Amino acid sequence: MSVTTELLQANERYAASFTKGDLPLPPARRVAILTCMDARMDPTRFLGLQEGDAHVIRNAGGRASDDALRSLAISHALLGTREFVVVHHTDCGMLTFRNEQLQRQLRRDLGADASGIDFLPFGDLEQSVRDDVATIRTSPLVPKDLPVRGFVYDVRTGRLREVA
Ligand SMILES: [Zn+2]
Repeated sequence: MSVTTELLQANERYAASFTKGDLPLPPARRVAILTCMDARMDPTRFLGLQEGDAHVIRNAGGRASDDALRSLAISHALLGTREFVVVHHTDCGMLTFRNEQLQRQLRRDLGADASGIDFLPFGDLEQSVRDDVATIRTSPLVPKDLPVRGFVYDVRTGRLREVA
């Protein structure tokens, strides 16, 4: 059985007892979280969120990429979020490679030309949080006075630590 088939079975069970079909579109807690796609992190659980509470934007590294900024702009301007939280984490895969390596691999394995693509890896975890908070704070798509805080999540302890 493929994993997708298993997921569909799990969804049948979820929908069978689903009771949250009346939630409004804007997030109730008025917050957007930008974090990594890492499988060990479940933001809804480590941040105590329920369906309807928050926007959670995930990508490789939790980076403030153009597409993350697109989502944050929509989150604030159209759906009323008033705080942004950036969460990177220990042992992130983005610490383990450089652009040139992945570009070479994609050329070798797929014949793809990824030479112009920045996959946004980083070498310094805390600095990557500072950089992404700064990118969001200075984005023309985000109001200057909107609070943006940055954190590192420890995958061994489940604990968040704020990055100054
Ligand atoms: Zn990660």
